[in-house]
Amino acid sequence: MAKQEDDFKRVISHAKEYGYVFQSSEIYDGLSAIYDYGQNGVELKKNIRDYWWKAMVQLNDNIVGLDAAIFMHPLTWKASGHIDAFNDPLIDNKDSKKRYRADVLVEDYVAKIDAKIEKEVNKAAKRFGDAFDKEQFLQTNQRVVDYQEQGKTILSRLGKSLQNEDLADVKALIEELDIACPMSGSKNWTEVKQFNLMFGTKLGANAETAMDLFLRPETAQGIFVNFLNVQKSGRMKLPFGIAQTGKAFRNEIVARQFIFRMREFEQMEMQFFIQPGTQKEWYEVWKEKRMKWHLSLGLGQDNYRFHDHEKLAHYADAASDIEFRFPFGFKELEGIHSRTDFDLSSHEKFSGKKLQYFDHEVNKNYVPYVLETSIGLDRMFLAVFSNSLKEEELENNTTRTVLKLPAVLAPVKAAILPLLKKDGLPEIAHQIIDDLKWDFNVVYDEKDAVGRRYRRQDANGTPFCITVDHQSLEDQTVTIRHRDSMEQERVAISALNGIIHDAVDMKTWLKKME
Ligand code: ATP
Repeated sequence: MAKQEDDFKRVISHAKEYGYVFQSSEIYDGLSAIYDYGQNGVELKKNIRDYWWKAMVQLNDNIVGLDAAIFMHPLTWKASGHIDAFNDPLIDNKDSKKRYRADVLVEDYVAKIDAKIEKEVNKAAKRFGDAFDKEQFLQTNQRVVDYQEQGKTILSRLGKSLQNEDLADVKALIEELDIACPMSGSKNWTEVKQFNLMFGTKLGANAETAMDLFLRPETAQGIFVNFLNVQKSGRMKLPFGIAQTGKAFRNEIVARQFIFRMREFEQMEMQFFIQPGTQKEWYEVWKEKRMKWHLSLGLGQDNYRFHDHEKLAHYADAASDIEFRFPFGFKELEGIHSRTDFDLSSHEKFSGKKLQYFDHEVNKNYVPYVLETSIGLDRMFLAVFSNSLKEEELENNTTRTVLKLPAVLAPVKAAILPLLKKDGLPEIAHQIIDDLKWDFNVVYDEKDAVGRRYRRQDANGTPFCITVDHQSLEDQTVTIRHRDSMEQERVAISALNGIIHDAVDMKTWLKKME
């Protein structure tokens, strides 16, 4: 646990030191669970967003984009169920006065059981070597089977209690599992209560007539209320999807995990409108497609898993999370939800407008069903960033900190370094930048010895360092150094564009999904 905490702290301080993520309003001591993205963070975030947008909108001829406003008519949230049901169960510890999400306390308890399973697996893998069959071990080792059963039973009871709004049973479960406050060790808990997560605000200058509004807690509703606008103006035929990225706001009860759980965050969502009855098929299709998108980035297959929901949200008939191995364990990164016709039907009811599709093939009108994929951009940022940060032991007994971001997402693609600040070397470096900057985000760096500059760029996540030396003056060649292997090669200046292009080209990366 201590190692996990240290690793996570390292991620947070590295993000600050290298201009990726800052605490919001830091000079005023910050604002809890609100963050700003610095000069590198904004580029990484944009590249992730582009990578998603291209995969969803550009590569699918039946998916189009949308940019709906953050403010929406307040009835939207009545129709969507957010006013009545967008609650989290909270519990306070009477001694430490700390507030927790009751469901998360139980889930963390189960995560500890999962960690025990993983420990057993690793031990056995070492013992059996190449002959180790993980699946067989998980099914036959009695201790591991018992652990799995225990975790399943707990989650299933939690799911049922939440589904039935039986908050007394959630508290009973916490007591039966003997869960203590992680801060104080105290088991002196209050009752479990529901807490609505939406932020309210007002529209209009006159206090008496101003309208109560909410900051949207998800981007999806902007898509639902525009379903017919897009379908008709784009002459879209079912099945088709609408994708959108944008800010969402939730007054989270507990927000102690950096950009994993924020009060202001960005979502990338896609609603796929389908014929009723085909949702099971599409659910599987989108689970697979989205997992392939993640795997294309090469962060390691073992770092992902599906988690099918026991407790379904009020709108869903099936739901699964893609979980990622964050520095603090496996947690939800993306949700894939079969939302039935809940949202469109409900908006029909509250608006009095028909939100139906005329299907020429069956010659009738109906409210489409919806399959949703929903991922947090900031969570994806954390997944990529934390997974990429490595401390490497080098052959000469030194270590280096390197941020092995997928090259396609790296904020800066190449740093151009003149070996010396004289003899015409800076001029050549600037000429190279003037050529490359049209295609790539590149930087110039002349400060410090070249070895230190390499280390700085490694820690910054820059895939290439290009060094201009005296030989460059004679034969128009430079040294290109690869961040991950640290290998260096001598290449013609005229070849640089092609080399960088091959490494960072989005097409090459996205093709891995096929
Ligand atoms: P959680 O159980 O972690 O609160 P959720 O199930 O409420 O998440 P959804 O409503 O399904 O999340 O939202 C879709 C995605 O939006 C999540 O998978 C996550 O990546 C992202 N997300 C949700 N809440 C936050 C938040 N507070 N901060 C950052 N990202 C978030």
